[in-house]
Order: sequence, then C-alpha cells, then structure tokens
Amino acid sequence: MKRLRSAQVGNGTSRDVRQRVYGTPVCGVTASPSLASRLDAWGWRIDGVCTDATDGGAAWFAPDGSLASRAARRACRSCPVQRVCLASALWFGEEYGIWGGTTPVQREAMTARLLRGESLDGLVGWSDDEVRDDTA
Ligand code: SF4
Repeated sequence: MKRLRSAQVGNGTSRDVRQRVYGTPVCGVTASPSLASRLDAWGWRIDGVCTDATDGGAAWFAPDGSLASRAARRACRSCPVQRVCLASALWFGEEYGIWGGTTPVQREAMTARLLRGESLDGLVGWSDDEVRDDTA
C-alpha cells in the first residue's frame, strides 16, 4: 500500500513522495488467486536474466533513457520470467528501475489502468496455464 509523505530533496526543498510497505500489494489492483499466489513467492527471481548480470543489475536502475537502461530493457525481452516480473512490479508497486522490460513511467500508465478495474492477468497476458507452466 502506498501513502504520501513529505521528504527533503537535495536542494533543500521538500516534496511529496510515495512510500509503500515493502511486499504489500498495491491497494485496488486485482489478480486471479493463482497469479496472486505466484507473486507471493519470490523464487521466480532466480531465473531472471538480471540475476546473473555482470554489473550486478546496476543497468536496471540506470537513468531512464541511458544506454545502460536501454540495454537492460533489451535483456528483459529475452528473459524467461518477463511476464511474472512485470506482474510482480505492478502488484507490489515497484516505483524505480526496469522491471519486466518496462520503465517507471510505463508502469504508472499500467497502474492507472489497473486502478480503473482492468485485471492484472489481462494486462500482462497471463492465463492459468501459463502460470502453471512458469511454476513447473
Ligand atoms: S524481466 Fe528484466 S527485470 Fe525482470 S527478471 Fe527478467 S531481466 Fe530482470
């Protein structure tokens, strides 16, 4: 669940930032029981391409639009857990970095769709069969 709090930024001014309790699904986002169960387990991460990245995954948190960030997004396209990664990022409200090949700005737009009632399964293109295959 996200909430707003005021935080100091580098130039001495303050602004509202979103803060969430880590590991808590975003309030208002819906998913099938099978997908929600899959997302509660974190084991899929060991199959991620970024897990073995030589830079320790730094490219996935490089500035948006940089060469490193674009390379990370390309790597996500061939990642065997791309969809569960994207679903997880949307489910838990990951605000920073590349997840499932998407930028934070792209996920903001997806989250808006989810909060308007679109299901997470539909948005990321999951079916129960795929969920079962991914967990095999
Ligand atoms: S989709 Fe991208 S961010 Fe997600 S696990 Fe795979 S390589 Fe990492």
